[in-house]
Amino acid sequence: RLARTFDAMIDKIDDSFKRQRQFTNDASHELRTPIAVIQSQAESALNFSHSEDEYRSALATILSEARHMGKLVSDLLFLARSDSRAEKLHMEELNFGELVEGIVAVLKPIAQDNGIDLKVIENGDFIVRGDQTHLTQLLYNIIDNAIKYTLPGGEIKISIEKKGEFVKTSVRDTGIGIPEEHLPHIFERFYRVDKARSRENGGTGLGLSICQWIVSAHGGKIEVFSEVGKGSTFVIWLPSL
Ligand code: ADP
Repeated sequence: RLARTFDAMIDKIDDSFKRQRQFTNDASHELRTPIAVIQSQAESALNFSHSEDEYRSALATILSEARHMGKLVSDLLFLARSDSRAEKLHMEELNFGELVEGIVAVLKPIAQDNGIDLKVIENGDFIVRGDQTHLTQLLYNIIDNAIKYTLPGGEIKISIEKKGEFVKTSVRDTGIGIPEEHLPHIFERFYRVDKARSRENGGTGLGLSICQWIVSAHGGKIEVFSEVGKGSTFVIWLPSL
């Protein structure tokens, strides 16, 4: 019996090493792409003569790839800190409704620019114990995704309600939706349904895995429901005060 327990432990450690190797591989690959683009654009700009417009376009590409790398590196650092338990939460009493309103105020103009109506439905006060920076990042990622994956004319509705010991926040969009076979994987690191589309939107494929870490570090959970062509709903459960 002891031998079996021991085998199970070894398997678990082995699995965790495999996952870590995969992650390092994926991360290196993801970083290599923008580096290659920056290098080739800079080389071409230096070695051949171009019109001013061509130089500008090369610089614009370099800038956008550099920004993408910056985002990738900060997401990777976040996950590295969470893996090594170095990422600490600074818990305080928070008015969750106000936090949501604040983020919506920042994202509403972006939604509007994309022809999307973004609104919040809440009644009452929802107090949670949480880390403000982390919860801001969590909500920002989920609402930003809803904007990215919704077409003009669409709508995003955020509702907050108290359910037993939890504050339940639903972010419902009328976007492109997620095929059923992908749903169990979207919280995995670097998992994207459509890589080209994610990249076009400046995505790293790490946002949802960061969200999942934040939610579980708060003792909550995150769920997703989706139908292709109809939209997606992300539900965040956080322990209420
Ligand atoms: P990304 O940076 O690619 O957006 P995320 O980790 O935030 O990475 O999300 C993983 C994948 O889940 C996305 O690439 C996309 O395919 C899918 N996804 C996330 N949110 C939505 C949404 N609201 N509607 C449709 N697909 C979504």
